[in-house]
Amino acid sequence: DNSGRRRPEPTGEFFKEEYGTVIAAISQKPEVAFVTKKANQIKGKKLPLTKWDTVLSDEETQFTGLAKIFAGGDFRRGPATAIEAIADGRKAAEAIDRFLNNQPMMDPIKLFNSKKEKRLVDVNPKEFEQYEEIPRFKMPELDPKVRASNFKEVETGFEEEDARAEADRCLECGCNVNESCDLRKYATEYKIDADMFVGDKNKHPIDDSHPFIRRDANKCINCGRCVRICAEVQGPGVLGYIFRGFTTYVAPEFGGSLSKTNCEICGKCIDVCPVGALLPKNVNAKLNPHISETTTQNCGLCGTGCNIEVSVQDNRVTIVKPAEGDTFNQRDLCFDGKFGWQIFEDEDRITHSFERENDHWLPIKDIDTAAKMIQEKLQKAKSKMVYISPTSSIEEALLIQHIAKKIGSQISSLSIYKSFVDRLTDTNLYTKTYDDLEHAECIVLIGKVSKVYKTIARRLQRNGAKLILITKEISDFNNFADELHNDDPIVKTLEKILQYNIELVKEEMDDIDDIEHNVDPLKLDLPEKTVFMYNRDLISEESIWNIWAISSLVCNFEEGSGILPTSKFNNFRGFQKLGINAGEPANYNFVLFYGELPCEEQKKRIKNSNFIVSVNTHIDDADSSHLLLPKASYLELESTSIADDGRTSKFKNPKNSTIHNKLLKIFKKAGLLTVQEAKISFWNKKAQMFLAKKEKIRNLSNQELLDFLYTVEHMQFDAPKQASIQKKRITKLKKMAK
Ligand code: SF4
Ligand code: SF4
Ligand code: SF4
Repeated sequence: DNSGRRRPEPTGEFFKEEYGTVIAAISQKPEVAFVTKKANQIKGKKLPLTKWDTVLSDEETQFTGLAKIFAGGDFRRGPATAIEAIADGRKAAEAIDRFLNNQPMMDPIKLFNSKKEKRLVDVNPKEFEQYEEIPRFKMPELDPKVRASNFKEVETGFEEEDARAEADRCLECGCNVNESCDLRKYATEYKIDADMFVGDKNKHPIDDSHPFIRRDANKCINCGRCVRICAEVQGPGVLGYIFRGFTTYVAPEFGGSLSKTNCEICGKCIDVCPVGALLPKNVNAKLNPHISETTTQNCGLCGTGCNIEVSVQDNRVTIVKPAEGDTFNQRDLCFDGKFGWQIFEDEDRITHSFERENDHWLPIKDIDTAAKMIQEKLQKAKSKMVYISPTSSIEEALLIQHIAKKIGSQISSLSIYKSFVDRLTDTNLYTKTYDDLEHAECIVLIGKVSKVYKTIARRLQRNGAKLILITKEISDFNNFADELHNDDPIVKTLEKILQYNIELVKEEMDDIDDIEHNVDPLKLDLPEKTVFMYNRDLISEESIWNIWAISSLVCNFEEGSGILPTSKFNNFRGFQKLGINAGEPANYNFVLFYGELPCEEQKKRIKNSNFIVSVNTHIDDADSSHLLLPKASYLELESTSIADDGRTSKFKNPKNSTIHNKLLKIFKKAGLLTVQEAKISFWNKKAQMFLAKKEKIRNLSNQELLDFLYTVEHMQFDAPKQASIQKKRITKLKKMAK
């Protein structure tokens, strides 16, 4: 019919056939005989019916007007679709709830709903032109000859793969933000009737070309929030207004694809958009507006430890966004936190063990085989070593420390390096927090720091703080700097700044002449309330030394003054507290890599090890282990870590993953854990106790710091080389957008 629904039409043709029995079983007529019986009447009233024997109930509440009877679906509408019946059921459930709570059955608030057209047939097919047209999959049926002799289902059903492909044809055309759209909220509040606003409508093409961001300018209200956040906070300024007047819309230059711009895929524009004009996309799944479970926890992809809200459907993460409320990162996440986690949902994510056979990985589905291999190899091994990555949580680190002790091995990390700064971590100088940034009058960012720190610094700059950048990075963010130093290598610039500060205090300090550098001084007006930030994994130790030396001459290390070192690793601070230090790669009879992936150089130094067990999230070409066990990510294990500024990051296993339970079972079977130790809760308790332990703080004066710095020898002159499966995969994912 006109609505596109199938409807039987008389053809005018007739034929006769003989049947033994005819059963009318097409469910097109309600069975109402029982309600018309006198005995079934309620207080002398019977259920109101139409001449087609459907019930007369209210379209909005499904209430029949009789006693407490609600009726909907095919019984109210006659033969119709399942989705309409479900809609009636939902309306009835809400009305019944209000009815039972002595409220008016009809919700006094009528939600504003916007439709592209009133009838599906009137929707312009151009709305769907971005989708590939895939024909409906034909349902397989029993051969008519077979059907004739039995009562089996005629439609035999899809194979799983076909069913998935068929379900995948769904366009999920409902708006994904229907529950959070501000426009809908206000239109509801002000009782807007869309029919009162007839007239021309703009039809803009929907841009689905970007793998992570969908732009639908038809939903845009031209508020300009995305334009401003991109230009004034993030930096690239790739969004702007196109045309003037009624046809104005927001898009990248010339209305092109975001993929062709400098977009940094931070997702901030999505998070500030009050409607559904900018939406996140997921490379593994089509997003939909259905109900999700949400969990608030921390991001575990670097030491910043941003607060995130994780949406999960059917034990799969669908969306990650900044957590609501008063958080230090506010609406900021970087690409990794906003989209990079999708690597943990991709098809290469391992959930069981693998054994190497020549160049191939053979799956091991049962726990016993993997456990037996570990047990046998350990029995024969004379030398053993355990390496653990600082991407592991406190719980995991305590577990692996315990296993190392049990097998009589050392434990260390290949991802970190020894630094003079390790000897300052127990001092009053090493306690700067994100709150300190709020009190700083000047923020100096040195080298590459996380995008979220940059945004925080930018926000504070807008509130009056000075922003100084010392970097070799070329980025749109550099335009925000009050002072940008990017001509010389970072270490040279720092030496010059140090020289200037030495000259400033020369007369007050006796032995300062000894520490002068043979460089021209660089004048930088640094107030006492200056916070220096750097990433210890991305600049040389020599640069770090200069930063500490400058701070000893500039800062008083009180509130808003000092150094906030950062790290690529979510639990670097935790590893410092746990006392897990830098390790050297070497050959052993038995090696356990937990979350570690040795870089090429390190690989050469372990290649003669007899048996290597690797615990990781994915198979990687660079992994030279013999046995690979699955590792839980920060979205798959209830655990904790210590962020760069000393706060505890919490991970809550929003996916209800059992990956870590499996690993514990393997270790238990291999004789490395007791029944108690093979429970996650056991390690959660241990971690809580560990985190509650107070550390003694040593007080160090500025002079003592300077004296200490001049005792430091053998500094690393290059940033360390580290490999990580996650970082490799996230980088690959990001490249999809270009
Ligand atoms: S994702 Fe970030 S960089 Fe890209 S357009 Fe949005 S705000 Fe700008
Ligand atoms: S934030 Fe959303 S509604 Fe506002 S201009 Fe940007 S796309 Fe349009
Ligand atoms: S800055 Fe770090 S913690 Fe924050 S979202 Fe990015 S990866 Fe996650």
